[in-house]
Amino acid sequence: MSVLKQVSPSSPVLPDAACALRPSACPGLLRIVAARDGGICRIKLPGGELSAAQAAVIADVSERHATGVIELTNRANLQVRGVRGGHEAALIAALVDAGFGPMASMSMSNLQLASAADDVRNVMISPAAGRDPFALFDTRPLCAELLALLQSDARFAALSPKFALLVDGGERLARLDHPHDVWLAATQSGDGVRFVSGLAGCPPVSATMANANTGAVAAVLPSQVTALVRALLHTFLDLAAADATRMRHMLTIHSIDAVLQHAQRYVDFPLSRDTSLANWQRATPADAALRLGAHAQRVVGRLHVGGQPPLGRVDAATLRSLATLSQQQGNGTLRFTPWQSVLLPDIAAHAAPAVLAEMVALGLACDPAQPLAHLIACAGSTGCVKGLADTKADALLLAERLAGGVEIHLSGCPRSCAAAHCAPYTLLAAAPGIYDLYRRDSQPDFGSCVARHVTIEQAADLLDSLAHPARSPSDA
Ligand code: SF4
Repeated sequence: MSVLKQVSPSSPVLPDAACALRPSACPGLLRIVAARDGGICRIKLPGGELSAAQAAVIADVSERHATGVIELTNRANLQVRGVRGGHEAALIAALVDAGFGPMASMSMSNLQLASAADDVRNVMISPAAGRDPFALFDTRPLCAELLALLQSDARFAALSPKFALLVDGGERLARLDHPHDVWLAATQSGDGVRFVSGLAGCPPVSATMANANTGAVAAVLPSQVTALVRALLHTFLDLAAADATRMRHMLTIHSIDAVLQHAQRYVDFPLSRDTSLANWQRATPADAALRLGAHAQRVVGRLHVGGQPPLGRVDAATLRSLATLSQQQGNGTLRFTPWQSVLLPDIAAHAAPAVLAEMVALGLACDPAQPLAHLIACAGSTGCVKGLADTKADALLLAERLAGGVEIHLSGCPRSCAAAHCAPYTLLAAAPGIYDLYRRDSQPDFGSCVARHVTIEQAADLLDSLAHPARSPSDA
Protein backbone atom coordinates (compact mmCIF):
# COMPACT_ATOMS: atom_id res chain seq x y z
CA MET A 1 0.00 0.00 0.00
CA SER A 2 1.30 3.49 -0.66
CA VAL A 3 1.70 5.52 2.47
CA LEU A 4 0.91 8.63 0.47
CA LYS A 5 -2.70 7.56 0.40
CA GLN A 6 -2.83 7.92 4.16
CA VAL A 7 -0.71 11.03 4.61
CA SER A 8 -2.75 13.85 5.99
CA PRO A 9 -2.30 17.10 4.03
CA SER A 10 -2.01 18.83 7.40
CA SER A 11 0.90 16.68 8.58
CA PRO A 12 3.81 18.97 9.49
CA VAL A 13 6.43 16.47 8.46
CA LEU A 14 4.89 14.60 5.58
CA PRO A 15 3.29 16.96 3.10
CA ASP A 16 1.11 15.46 0.44
CA ALA A 17 3.92 14.90 -2.02
CA ALA A 18 3.17 13.90 -5.56
CA CYS A 19 5.90 11.30 -5.78
CA ALA A 20 5.41 7.60 -5.08
CA LEU A 21 7.50 5.64 -2.62
CA ARG A 22 9.73 3.18 -4.40
CA PRO A 23 8.18 -0.27 -4.42
CA SER A 24 9.57 -2.92 -2.10
CA ALA A 25 8.21 -5.79 -0.04
CA CYS A 26 10.38 -4.65 2.89
CA PRO A 27 8.66 -2.47 5.47
CA GLY A 28 10.28 0.84 6.34
CA LEU A 29 9.47 3.84 8.45
CA LEU A 30 7.79 5.58 5.54
CA ARG A 31 6.59 2.44 3.77
CA ILE A 32 4.08 0.56 5.88
CA VAL A 33 3.61 -2.85 4.37
CA ALA A 34 0.32 -4.71 4.72
CA ALA A 35 0.27 -8.04 6.55
CA ARG A 36 -2.53 -10.31 7.71
CA ASP A 37 -2.55 -8.70 11.17
CA GLY A 38 -2.33 -5.11 9.90
CA GLY A 39 0.47 -2.84 8.69
CA ILE A 40 4.13 -3.27 9.58
CA CYS A 41 6.28 -0.20 10.22
CA ARG A 42 10.01 -0.93 10.59
CA ILE A 43 12.10 1.48 12.64
CA LYS A 44 15.83 1.36 11.91
CA LEU A 45 17.94 1.94 15.01
CA PRO A 46 21.48 3.27 14.43
CA GLY A 47 23.80 0.64 15.88
CA GLY A 48 20.75 -1.01 17.46
CA GLU A 49 20.57 1.78 20.05
CA LEU A 50 17.37 3.36 21.32
CA SER A 51 16.97 5.98 24.03
CA ALA A 52 14.49 5.32 26.82
CA ALA A 53 12.52 8.38 25.72
CA GLN A 54 12.25 7.06 22.16
CA ALA A 55 11.28 3.62 23.46
CA ALA A 56 8.42 5.24 25.33
CA VAL A 57 7.29 6.95 22.12
CA ILE A 58 7.28 3.63 20.24
CA ALA A 59 5.29 2.03 23.07
CA ASP A 60 2.75 4.88 23.02
CA VAL A 61 2.27 4.99 19.25
CA SER A 62 2.05 1.22 18.97
CA GLU A 63 -0.93 1.32 21.34
CA ARG A 64 -2.52 4.40 19.80
CA HIS A 65 -2.14 3.45 16.13
CA ALA A 66 -1.58 -0.32 16.14
CA THR A 67 -2.15 -3.42 18.22
CA GLY A 68 0.65 -2.71 20.69
CA VAL A 69 2.86 -5.54 19.41
CA ILE A 70 6.50 -4.58 18.85
CA GLU A 71 8.91 -6.97 17.15
CA LEU A 72 12.66 -7.15 17.55
CA THR A 73 14.25 -7.95 14.20
CA ASN A 74 17.32 -9.96 13.28
CA ARG A 75 19.05 -6.74 12.19
CA ALA A 76 18.68 -5.18 15.65
CA ASN A 77 15.79 -2.96 14.59
CA LEU A 78 12.21 -2.73 15.83
CA GLN A 79 8.93 -2.96 13.99
CA VAL A 80 5.45 -1.98 15.00
CA ARG A 81 2.94 -4.64 13.92
CA GLY A 82 -0.77 -4.42 13.39
CA VAL A 83 -0.88 -0.78 12.26
CA ARG A 84 -4.55 0.10 11.88
CA GLY A 85 -5.96 1.28 8.58
CA GLY A 86 -6.19 5.08 8.49
CA HIS A 87 -3.58 5.51 11.24
CA GLU A 88 -0.48 5.20 9.05
CA ALA A 89 0.27 8.90 8.58
CA ALA A 90 -0.21 9.73 12.26
CA LEU A 91 2.06 6.85 13.28
CA ILE A 92 4.79 7.92 10.86
CA ALA A 93 4.52 11.58 11.85
CA ALA A 94 4.86 10.74 15.55
CA LEU A 95 7.92 8.59 14.88
CA VAL A 96 9.60 11.20 12.67
CA ASP A 97 8.90 13.85 15.32
CA ALA A 98 10.65 11.62 17.86
CA GLY A 99 13.81 11.63 15.74
CA PHE A 100 13.44 8.33 13.89
CA GLY A 101 14.04 7.99 10.20
CA PRO A 102 16.77 9.20 7.89
CA MET A 103 19.09 12.05 8.82
CA ALA A 104 17.36 15.03 10.33
CA SER A 105 18.83 17.25 7.63
CA MET A 106 17.11 15.23 4.92
CA SER A 107 14.11 16.94 3.44
CA MET A 108 11.01 14.96 4.25
CA SER A 109 9.25 16.79 1.44
CA ASN A 110 10.81 14.29 -0.98
CA LEU A 111 9.33 11.06 0.27
CA GLN A 112 10.99 8.91 -2.36
CA LEU A 113 14.46 10.15 -1.40
CA ALA A 114 13.70 9.93 2.31
CA SER A 115 12.32 6.41 1.93
CA ALA A 116 15.40 5.28 0.00
CA ALA A 117 17.68 6.87 2.61
CA ASP A 118 15.79 5.00 5.30
CA ASP A 119 16.05 1.73 3.38
CA VAL A 120 19.84 1.79 3.04
CA ARG A 121 20.62 2.42 6.71
CA ASN A 122 21.87 -1.12 7.23
CA VAL A 123 25.07 -1.18 9.27
CA MET A 124 25.49 -3.93 11.87
CA ILE A 125 27.81 -3.60 14.86
CA SER A 126 28.07 -5.56 18.09
CA PRO A 127 25.42 -4.67 20.69
CA ALA A 128 28.37 -4.41 23.10
CA ALA A 129 30.37 -2.08 20.82
CA GLY A 130 32.40 0.35 22.88
CA ARG A 131 31.89 -1.67 26.05
CA ASP A 132 33.04 -5.22 25.31
CA PRO A 133 36.32 -5.92 27.18
CA PHE A 134 37.66 -7.86 24.17
CA ALA A 135 36.97 -5.18 21.56
CA LEU A 136 39.97 -3.99 19.57
CA PHE A 137 38.15 -0.90 18.36
CA ASP A 138 35.06 1.10 19.31
CA THR A 139 33.01 0.77 16.14
CA ARG A 140 30.23 3.20 17.14
CA PRO A 141 31.78 6.29 15.50
CA LEU A 142 32.51 4.27 12.35
CA CYS A 143 28.93 3.06 12.28
CA ALA A 144 27.72 6.67 12.49
CA GLU A 145 30.07 7.69 9.66
CA LEU A 146 28.88 4.86 7.44
CA LEU A 147 25.22 5.60 8.12
CA ALA A 148 25.83 9.23 7.16
CA LEU A 149 27.63 8.10 4.00
CA LEU A 150 24.78 5.81 2.97
CA GLN A 151 22.23 8.59 3.36
CA SER A 152 24.25 11.48 1.97
CA ASP A 153 24.97 10.21 -1.53
CA ALA A 154 21.83 10.11 -3.66
CA ARG A 155 23.39 7.39 -5.81
CA PHE A 156 23.27 4.95 -2.91
CA ALA A 157 19.48 5.20 -2.94
CA ALA A 158 19.69 2.63 -5.74
CA LEU A 159 20.93 -0.02 -3.30
CA SER A 160 18.49 -2.73 -2.26
CA PRO A 161 16.88 -2.37 1.21
CA LYS A 162 18.57 -5.71 1.96
CA PHE A 163 22.09 -4.50 1.07
CA ALA A 164 23.95 -4.48 4.38
CA LEU A 165 27.33 -3.78 5.98
CA LEU A 166 28.96 -5.37 9.03
CA VAL A 167 31.63 -3.64 11.12
CA ASP A 168 33.16 -6.02 13.64
CA GLY A 169 35.26 -4.50 16.40
CA GLY A 170 36.52 -7.86 17.70
CA GLU A 171 33.98 -8.10 20.53
CA ARG A 172 33.16 -11.42 22.14
CA LEU A 173 29.49 -10.56 21.87
CA ALA A 174 29.21 -10.53 18.09
CA ARG A 175 26.93 -12.12 15.53
CA LEU A 176 29.15 -13.36 12.75
CA ASP A 177 26.92 -15.80 10.90
CA HIS A 178 24.75 -13.31 9.01
CA PRO A 179 26.20 -12.86 5.52
CA HIS A 180 26.76 -9.19 4.70
CA ASP A 181 27.44 -7.57 1.33
CA VAL A 182 30.54 -5.87 2.73
CA TRP A 183 32.13 -6.85 6.04
CA LEU A 184 34.99 -5.25 7.92
CA ALA A 185 36.68 -6.75 10.97
CA ALA A 186 39.23 -5.21 13.33
CA THR A 187 42.50 -7.06 13.64
CA GLN A 188 45.62 -6.30 15.63
CA SER A 189 48.69 -5.73 13.51
CA GLY A 190 52.22 -4.83 14.63
CA ASP A 191 51.64 -1.08 14.50
CA GLY A 192 48.00 -0.82 15.50
CA VAL A 193 44.53 -1.88 14.48
CA ARG A 194 43.64 -2.57 10.86
CA PHE A 195 40.28 -3.48 9.37
CA VAL A 196 40.30 -6.48 7.08
CA SER A 197 37.43 -6.61 4.66
CA GLY A 198 35.54 -9.11 2.59
CA LEU A 199 32.57 -9.27 0.27
CA ALA A 200 29.36 -11.26 0.34
CA GLY A 201 29.98 -13.27 3.49
CA CYS A 202 31.04 -13.16 7.12
CA PRO A 203 34.35 -12.58 8.93
CA PRO A 204 35.98 -16.04 9.01
CA VAL A 205 36.10 -17.64 12.45
CA SER A 206 37.78 -20.84 11.26
CA ALA A 207 40.13 -22.05 8.53
CA THR A 208 37.15 -23.58 6.72
CA MET A 209 35.37 -20.24 6.62
CA ALA A 210 38.55 -18.44 5.55
CA ASN A 211 38.46 -20.49 2.38
CA ALA A 212 34.73 -20.07 1.83
CA ASN A 213 33.20 -17.14 -0.04
CA THR A 214 35.82 -14.50 -0.64
CA GLY A 215 37.55 -14.63 2.75
CA ALA A 216 39.48 -11.48 3.70
CA VAL A 217 40.64 -9.59 0.63
CA ALA A 218 42.20 -6.32 1.84
CA ALA A 219 43.23 -4.50 5.01
CA VAL A 220 43.00 -0.76 5.65
CA LEU A 221 43.54 1.72 8.46
CA PRO A 222 40.50 2.59 10.57
CA SER A 223 40.63 6.08 9.04
CA GLN A 224 40.29 4.53 5.56
CA VAL A 225 37.25 2.36 6.26
CA THR A 226 34.61 4.85 5.15
CA ALA A 227 36.48 5.64 1.93
CA LEU A 228 36.86 1.92 1.21
CA VAL A 229 33.16 1.29 1.75
CA ARG A 230 32.25 4.26 -0.44
CA ALA A 231 34.50 2.89 -3.19
CA LEU A 232 33.00 -0.59 -2.92
CA LEU A 233 29.44 0.75 -3.07
CA HIS A 234 30.20 2.82 -6.17
CA THR A 235 31.92 -0.19 -7.70
CA PHE A 236 28.87 -2.34 -7.04
CA LEU A 237 26.62 0.24 -8.67
CA ASP A 238 29.02 0.59 -11.63
CA LEU A 239 29.50 -3.12 -12.32
CA ALA A 240 26.45 -5.01 -11.09
CA ALA A 241 23.85 -6.12 -13.61
CA ALA A 242 20.59 -4.18 -13.56
CA ASP A 243 18.76 -6.97 -11.74
CA ALA A 244 21.58 -7.71 -9.25
CA THR A 245 20.62 -6.61 -5.75
CA ARG A 246 23.38 -8.16 -3.64
CA MET A 247 27.16 -8.28 -3.79
CA ARG A 248 27.08 -12.06 -4.25
CA HIS A 249 25.24 -11.57 -7.53
CA MET A 250 27.94 -9.26 -8.83
CA LEU A 251 30.70 -11.68 -7.83
CA THR A 252 29.25 -14.31 -10.16
CA ILE A 253 30.38 -12.20 -13.11
CA HIS A 254 33.30 -10.13 -11.75
CA SER A 255 36.38 -11.45 -9.92
CA ILE A 256 37.53 -9.99 -6.62
CA ASP A 257 40.62 -8.62 -8.37
CA ALA A 258 38.47 -6.87 -10.97
CA VAL A 259 36.26 -5.42 -8.22
CA LEU A 260 39.23 -4.05 -6.26
CA GLN A 261 40.87 -2.74 -9.42
CA HIS A 262 37.69 -0.85 -10.23
CA ALA A 263 37.33 0.40 -6.63
CA GLN A 264 40.88 1.80 -6.79
CA ARG A 265 39.62 4.74 -8.85
CA TYR A 266 37.52 5.92 -5.91
CA VAL A 267 40.25 5.95 -3.21
CA ASP A 268 43.59 7.74 -2.84
CA PHE A 269 45.39 4.84 -1.14
CA PRO A 270 46.67 1.63 -2.78
CA LEU A 271 43.98 -1.01 -3.02
CA SER A 272 44.60 -4.53 -4.25
CA ARG A 273 44.02 -8.05 -3.08
CA ASP A 274 46.30 -8.91 -0.17
CA THR A 275 47.09 -12.59 -0.60
CA SER A 276 48.71 -12.71 2.86
CA LEU A 277 45.14 -12.46 4.22
CA ALA A 278 44.00 -15.63 2.45
CA ASN A 279 43.92 -17.60 5.70
CA TRP A 280 42.99 -14.71 7.98
CA GLN A 281 40.51 -15.57 10.66
CA ARG A 282 39.12 -13.74 13.64
CA ALA A 283 41.37 -14.09 16.70
CA THR A 284 38.68 -13.93 19.41
CA PRO A 285 35.89 -16.51 19.46
CA ALA A 286 32.46 -14.95 19.62
CA ASP A 287 30.05 -16.03 22.35
CA ALA A 288 26.36 -15.44 21.68
CA ALA A 289 25.46 -16.49 25.23
CA LEU A 290 26.81 -13.14 26.44
CA ARG A 291 23.60 -11.53 25.19
CA LEU A 292 21.78 -13.16 28.11
CA GLY A 293 22.27 -12.42 31.81
CA ALA A 294 24.76 -9.98 33.36
CA HIS A 295 28.27 -9.58 31.95
CA ALA A 296 31.23 -7.35 32.61
CA GLN A 297 31.93 -4.36 30.44
CA ARG A 298 35.32 -2.78 29.78
CA VAL A 299 34.89 -0.34 32.66
CA VAL A 300 35.29 -2.17 35.96
CA GLY A 301 32.10 -2.30 38.00
CA ARG A 302 29.77 -1.82 35.02
CA LEU A 303 27.77 -4.65 33.45
CA HIS A 304 25.35 -5.11 30.61
CA VAL A 305 22.26 -7.11 31.41
CA GLY A 306 20.36 -8.84 28.62
CA GLY A 307 17.30 -10.91 27.94
CA GLN A 308 15.33 -12.37 25.06
CA PRO A 309 11.61 -11.66 24.77
CA PRO A 310 9.72 -14.81 23.78
CA LEU A 311 9.98 -15.19 20.00
CA GLY A 312 11.22 -11.63 19.60
CA ARG A 313 8.03 -9.81 20.54
CA VAL A 314 7.20 -7.41 23.36
CA ASP A 315 4.04 -5.53 24.16
CA ALA A 316 4.00 -1.81 24.74
CA ALA A 317 3.91 -2.16 28.53
CA THR A 318 7.03 -4.34 28.51
CA LEU A 319 8.93 -1.93 26.29
CA ARG A 320 7.92 0.92 28.59
CA SER A 321 9.11 -1.04 31.63
CA LEU A 322 12.46 -1.80 29.99
CA ALA A 323 12.87 1.89 29.18
CA THR A 324 12.13 2.85 32.78
CA LEU A 325 14.59 0.23 34.01
CA SER A 326 17.34 1.63 31.80
CA GLN A 327 16.62 5.15 33.06
CA GLN A 328 16.65 4.12 36.71
CA GLN A 329 19.54 1.64 36.67
CA GLY A 330 21.46 2.11 33.44
CA ASN A 331 22.43 4.91 31.09
CA GLY A 332 18.95 5.56 29.71
CA THR A 333 19.48 3.55 26.52
CA LEU A 334 18.54 0.10 25.28
CA ARG A 335 20.65 -1.90 22.83
CA PHE A 336 18.85 -4.30 20.57
CA THR A 337 20.69 -7.32 19.19
CA PRO A 338 20.56 -9.42 15.99
CA TRP A 339 19.37 -12.34 18.14
CA GLN A 340 16.10 -10.44 18.68
CA SER A 341 17.08 -9.69 22.26
CA VAL A 342 17.83 -6.55 24.27
CA LEU A 343 20.71 -5.36 26.46
CA LEU A 344 20.62 -2.68 29.13
CA PRO A 345 24.17 -1.28 29.24
CA ASP A 346 26.12 0.44 32.03
CA ILE A 347 24.40 -1.18 35.00
CA ALA A 348 26.32 -0.84 38.30
CA ALA A 349 27.49 -4.28 39.47
CA HIS A 350 25.53 -4.03 42.72
CA ALA A 351 22.29 -3.30 40.81
CA ALA A 352 22.68 -6.07 38.22
CA PRO A 353 20.87 -8.84 40.18
CA ALA A 354 17.81 -6.62 40.67
CA VAL A 355 17.80 -5.59 36.99
CA LEU A 356 18.08 -9.22 35.96
CA ALA A 357 15.21 -10.20 38.25
CA GLU A 358 13.09 -7.40 36.79
CA MET A 359 13.78 -8.57 33.23
CA VAL A 360 12.85 -12.13 34.20
CA ALA A 361 9.65 -10.81 35.79
CA LEU A 362 8.88 -9.07 32.49
CA GLY A 363 8.98 -12.48 30.82
CA LEU A 364 12.38 -12.27 29.13
CA ALA A 365 14.59 -15.36 28.90
CA CYS A 366 17.84 -14.33 30.58
CA ASP A 367 19.43 -17.76 30.99
CA PRO A 368 20.97 -19.63 28.02
CA ALA A 369 19.56 -22.87 29.46
CA GLN A 370 15.99 -21.72 28.71
CA PRO A 371 14.62 -23.25 25.48
CA LEU A 372 12.97 -19.94 24.55
CA ALA A 373 16.39 -18.32 24.35
CA HIS A 374 17.10 -20.53 21.33
CA LEU A 375 13.84 -20.48 19.41
CA ILE A 376 12.96 -18.08 16.63
CA ALA A 377 9.80 -18.04 14.57
CA CYS A 378 8.49 -15.82 11.80
CA ALA A 379 5.06 -14.19 12.00
CA GLY A 380 3.44 -17.39 10.70
CA SER A 381 -0.14 -17.80 9.55
CA THR A 382 -1.64 -15.39 12.08
CA GLY A 383 0.44 -12.51 10.74
CA CYS A 384 1.31 -13.44 7.19
CA VAL A 385 -0.73 -14.68 4.25
CA LYS A 386 2.14 -16.90 3.11
CA GLY A 387 2.32 -18.75 6.44
CA LEU A 388 1.25 -22.39 6.30
CA ALA A 389 1.28 -22.81 10.10
CA ASP A 390 0.99 -20.74 13.25
CA THR A 391 4.74 -20.76 13.87
CA LYS A 392 4.57 -18.52 16.95
CA ALA A 393 2.08 -20.75 18.80
CA ASP A 394 3.86 -23.91 17.65
CA ALA A 395 7.22 -22.55 18.86
CA LEU A 396 5.74 -22.01 22.33
CA LEU A 397 4.46 -25.62 22.31
CA LEU A 398 7.90 -26.81 21.24
CA ALA A 399 9.59 -24.81 24.00
CA GLU A 400 7.51 -26.68 26.59
CA ARG A 401 8.74 -30.01 25.25
CA LEU A 402 12.42 -29.27 24.67
CA ALA A 403 15.49 -29.26 26.82
CA GLY A 404 17.50 -26.05 26.43
CA GLY A 405 20.40 -25.42 24.12
CA VAL A 406 18.97 -26.56 20.77
CA GLU A 407 18.76 -23.71 18.28
CA ILE A 408 15.63 -24.02 16.17
CA HIS A 409 14.00 -21.80 13.60
CA LEU A 410 10.32 -22.22 12.73
CA SER A 411 9.47 -20.79 9.34
CA GLY A 412 5.99 -20.47 7.91
CA CYS A 413 7.30 -20.72 4.33
CA PRO A 414 10.67 -20.97 2.58
CA ARG A 415 11.25 -17.19 2.63
CA SER A 416 12.86 -17.47 6.06
CA CYS A 417 12.02 -13.95 7.27
CA ALA A 418 13.02 -14.68 10.87
CA ALA A 419 16.55 -15.84 10.11
CA ALA A 420 19.27 -14.25 8.00
CA HIS A 421 21.46 -17.26 8.79
CA CYS A 422 20.94 -21.00 8.50
CA ALA A 423 19.95 -22.27 11.95
CA PRO A 424 21.24 -25.66 13.15
CA TYR A 425 17.65 -26.96 12.87
CA THR A 426 14.74 -25.56 10.88
CA LEU A 427 11.11 -26.57 11.02
CA LEU A 428 9.56 -25.53 7.73
CA ALA A 429 5.77 -25.44 7.78
CA ALA A 430 3.97 -27.85 5.44
CA ALA A 431 0.42 -27.45 6.85
CA PRO A 432 -1.15 -26.21 10.10
CA GLY A 433 0.78 -27.91 12.93
CA ILE A 434 2.85 -29.97 10.46
CA TYR A 435 6.48 -29.33 9.56
CA ASP A 436 9.47 -30.67 7.63
CA LEU A 437 12.59 -30.84 9.79
CA TYR A 438 15.93 -29.73 8.33
CA ARG A 439 19.40 -30.07 9.80
CA ARG A 440 22.16 -27.64 8.82
CA ASP A 441 24.96 -29.18 6.77
CA SER A 442 26.76 -28.32 3.57
CA GLN A 443 23.50 -28.27 1.60
CA PRO A 444 22.13 -24.84 0.66
CA ASP A 445 19.17 -23.06 2.25
CA PHE A 446 18.03 -24.91 5.40
CA GLY A 447 20.38 -27.92 4.99
CA SER A 448 19.18 -31.51 4.56
CA CYS A 449 15.64 -32.64 5.30
CA VAL A 450 15.72 -35.31 8.01
CA ALA A 451 11.97 -35.79 8.53
CA ARG A 452 8.84 -34.81 6.66
CA HIS A 453 5.38 -33.96 7.90
CA VAL A 454 5.99 -34.22 11.63
CA THR A 455 3.86 -32.76 14.39
CA ILE A 456 5.36 -30.52 17.04
CA GLU A 457 5.38 -33.44 19.50
CA GLN A 458 7.22 -35.63 16.99
CA ALA A 459 9.60 -32.79 16.17
CA ALA A 460 10.44 -32.35 19.86
CA ASP A 461 11.35 -36.05 20.18
CA LEU A 462 13.38 -35.99 16.98
CA LEU A 463 15.23 -32.84 17.93
CA ASP A 464 16.05 -34.29 21.31
CA SER A 465 17.56 -37.42 19.77
CA LEU A 466 19.39 -35.47 17.04
CA ALA A 467 20.84 -32.91 19.43
CA HIS A 468 21.74 -35.48 22.09
CA PRO A 469 22.56 -38.66 20.14
CA ALA A 470 24.47 -40.25 23.03
CA ARG A 471 21.56 -39.95 25.43
CA SER A 472 19.81 -43.26 26.12
CA PRO A 473 15.99 -43.42 26.31
CA SER A 474 16.18 -43.78 30.10
CA ASP A 475 18.02 -40.43 30.33
CA ALA A 476 15.26 -38.59 28.54
S1 SF4 B 1 8.81 -16.77 6.37
FE1 SF4 B 1 7.00 -16.87 5.00
S2 SF4 B 1 5.28 -17.17 6.40
FE2 SF4 B 1 6.99 -16.43 7.64
S3 SF4 B 1 6.71 -14.21 7.73
FE3 SF4 B 1 8.11 -14.66 6.02
S4 SF4 B 1 6.80 -14.77 4.21
FE4 SF4 B 1 5.46 -14.97 6.02
